[in-house]
Amino acid sequence: MPDEIALKVSNLDVHYKDFQALWNVFLEAQKGEIVSVIGANGAGKSTLLNTIAGLLAPTQGAIECLGEKIDGLPPYKIVPIGITLVPEGRRIFPRLTVYENLIMGSYTPRTRSSRNEALKKIYQLFPVLKDRHNQMGDTLSGGEQQMLAIGRALMSNPKLILCDEISLGLAPVVIKSIYGRLRQINQEGITIVLVEQDIKRSLKVANRAYIMLEGKMVLEGEPSSISEEQVRKAYFGI
Ligand code: ATP
Repeated sequence: MPDEIALKVSNLDVHYKDFQALWNVFLEAQKGEIVSVIGANGAGKSTLLNTIAGLLAPTQGAIECLGEKIDGLPPYKIVPIGITLVPEGRRIFPRLTVYENLIMGSYTPRTRSSRNEALKKIYQLFPVLKDRHNQMGDTLSGGEQQMLAIGRALMSNPKLILCDEISLGLAPVVIKSIYGRLRQINQEGITIVLVEQDIKRSLKVANRAYIMLEGKMVLEGEPSSISEEQVRKAYFGI
């Protein structure tokens, strides 16, 4: 049913000047799903998420979110539709407090009125952020900064979040905890598209997975139907 589709990307081409980074890329996420996109360094995963979030404009193709055409729209018009990016490298504001960082995520008129409610939910999900609400962003550990980046994204009351390499540089125990929270967020009805290099972790959590190689989607399926050999081929092209 068309109204069950949260995100549909079709025939997407993206260029950085003369360099073509994405070729005819497609992706679909049903409402309530966790979809993983995996692929080696430089496969085009971040380019795909940044294009969906409106940070890059496609040269060809279409992106639909919750029934609305969003390709070519700037991020400030995409966020109110219900899509938020948790960017690679967290990009928190280092000289703002945890609380101020979170507030930055609720700048749209729709979310400003429900700010306190959203804040309460985020503090319940990540109690450490409540404990440290007055602490500067750059004094947090890597894991806490990642929680803050996810929390900030949730402040806009999204229906879909795009998570770019949330496990990068974090200890396994921290990654496990963050993935646990992601499941919780998903159980509350938020669709999640994950980009990861941690193949095992992202296949474990996903309902469906896509594999990218050199700017193209080379495989799509339920994680249980994707073999190690297929993953190896996608990563190394052999
Ligand atoms: P990683 O896991 O290393 O972040 P990725 O799969 O996210 O890799 P992208 O960052 O999307 O890959 O990069 C896809 C391709 O586009 C790469 O060949 C990269 O060098 C190129 N690219 C990315 N950003 C730019 C840019 N700003 N200008 C030119 N080329 C870029």
